[in-house]
Amino acid sequence: MIELVCASANPDKVAEMAEVLEGHAVLLPRPAGMGEVAEDADSLEGNAILKARAVCDFAGAAALADDTGLEVDALGGAPGVYSARYAGPGASYADNLARLLDEMRDVEPSQRTARFRTMAAVCFPDGTSVVAEGTVEGAITTEPRGTGGFGYDPVFAPAEAGGLTFSEMGPAAKNAMSHRARALRALLEMLRS
Ligand code: IMP
Repeated sequence: MIELVCASANPDKVAEMAEVLEGHAVLLPRPAGMGEVAEDADSLEGNAILKARAVCDFAGAAALADDTGLEVDALGGAPGVYSARYAGPGASYADNLARLLDEMRDVEPSQRTARFRTMAAVCFPDGTSVVAEGTVEGAITTEPRGTGGFGYDPVFAPAEAGGLTFSEMGPAAKNAMSHRARALRALLEMLRS
């Protein structure tokens, strides 16, 4: 089984990644002592590669990173690549979610379509890399619902989930259809071939 050093230190993400990769890849923790990597690329793919390359170079081993954006159609695709800092530098999950609901306050239910997009990248010590994409279509609810998940999960209702938000459905159901799980499965396929 391939060993991948995880470039993410976000425990919410790492838990989801570990569950999807279980039985297919061994996820090693991000090296202690490695500093933050500035996510200053202007695309999800750019940021995913930036993070995976930095950790790969530090650890001297293959590294996995993902970068995710929430694309809201009524907001012209925002927050997109800026999802982590939508409410400003250092914004919390709650801050970002509050800003999103505020921006969407006058948007009709039929216009609240959105998608999560994840780009997942593995970088290898020989300088090569592979990148895969995963998306899930859905809609932004008018108020937060549910207690599970993280980030924008309480306001994102996947089209294929019968009205439940990611926060209402539990980790296994989220991993069955999420952007991140889809990107990771596609990445595993590429690594196998
Ligand atoms: P990043 O991939 O860590 O840069 O994530 C960007 C932003 O999207 C962060 O604010 C995360 O909280 C949010 N985010 C990433 N993945 C998810 C998810 O699976 N559900 C909800 N929010 C997410």
